[in-house]
Amino acid sequence: MIDALIGTAAAYGCRVERDLPLAELTSFRIGGPADKVITLPDVAAAAAINGILVSQNIPHFWIGKGSNLLVSDAGFRGVVLKLASGGAPERLDGERIRCFGGVALPALSRFAQVQGLTGLEFACGIPGSVGGAVLMNAGAYGGCMGDVLESVTVLRGDRAVELPANELALGYRHTAMMESGEPIVSATFRLQPGDAAAIDARMTELLTARREKQPLEYPSAGSFFKRPEGHFAGALIENCGLKGFRVGNAEISRKHAGFVINVGGATCADVQELARQVRRKVLTETGVLLEPEVRLIGEEWKSWEE
Ligand SMILES: Cc1cc2nc3c(=O)[nH]c(=O)nc-3n(C[C@H](O)[C@H](O)[C@H](O)COP(=O)(O)OP(=O)(O)OC[C@H]3O[C@@H](n4cnc5c(N)ncnc54)[C@H](O)[C@@H]3O)c2cc1C
Repeated sequence: MIDALIGTAAAYGCRVERDLPLAELTSFRIGGPADKVITLPDVAAAAAINGILVSQNIPHFWIGKGSNLLVSDAGFRGVVLKLASGGAPERLDGERIRCFGGVALPALSRFAQVQGLTGLEFACGIPGSVGGAVLMNAGAYGGCMGDVLESVTVLRGDRAVELPANELALGYRHTAMMESGEPIVSATFRLQPGDAAAIDARMTELLTARREKQPLEYPSAGSFFKRPEGHFAGALIENCGLKGFRVGNAEISRKHAGFVINVGGATCADVQELARQVRRKVLTETGVLLEPEVRLIGEEWKSWEE
């Protein structure tokens, strides 16, 4: 089975790496090895490989830029799939842009700016891929992917299927693909005409705000917890006196309490224990239960509740 997979990967020009530490593929710099990591250059390759994995029931997991992931220290026994980051977004008729899922979100945002199209400024500092950002319905500064998404192309086995945005159950950090598990290989966006210089100025302003407020000098997965209704996770954590709270080498950032940072050599176990203690204290002191926004991958997961 695995031989057929590797043969197909070679035929489609995929890169195959064995026992690759997933720490190398995540912004948290945490995570043990995956048995195989296959990097897929295009939709045809992704469809062919996905078809084999789904039909043969081979354990697999899709990652983008790994910027919203916490990977277990034991890694992942199976195949990790990643769309290659090469390729440029494509301007379609009117104010529409189509983009391969592996492209970096900031590159898509910049492409729109150069084209004089407004709507993707919010995304310029989100360090994900287009596929990962669509899956998460990523957002910032009042905008989110769902606001500008026209359609996505997902894989059903070895078939590429286009779905309109109104069929994607778009919500706060939620999409239908979270339940279906269908990988996103490309997305089409509908933007508005705008002034390239004004869009550029807004992007600069947002990037500056990020640098000032977020601990970008440390590995992290961005905001660790979702925003609870009517609250901000960072403010709740800060008000519980948890800024700088540490377990092993994982720490609640002193700059922004919504971020868990890896101060050097943190393990997944450190982060999990930290998150557990933070959740418990915030629940006891405020009555609000924080839900992790980061997605979990790997072996031997213990529940957040323990
Ligand atoms: C410094 C920093 C700042 C951040 N700021 C923000 C922010 O402002 N707003 C925000 O929303 N997020 C933010 N994030 C989190 C993260 O960047 C986003 O969630 C991003 O959209 C994740 O994209 P990714 O490609 O890195 O996905 P990954 O982290 O690789 O994966 C995330 C999820 O998407 C799935 N996935 C990845 N690719 C695909 C695909 N092609 N098809 C189907 N599923 C896929 C994975 O299985 C996983 O469940 C930040 C992170 C960091 C480190």
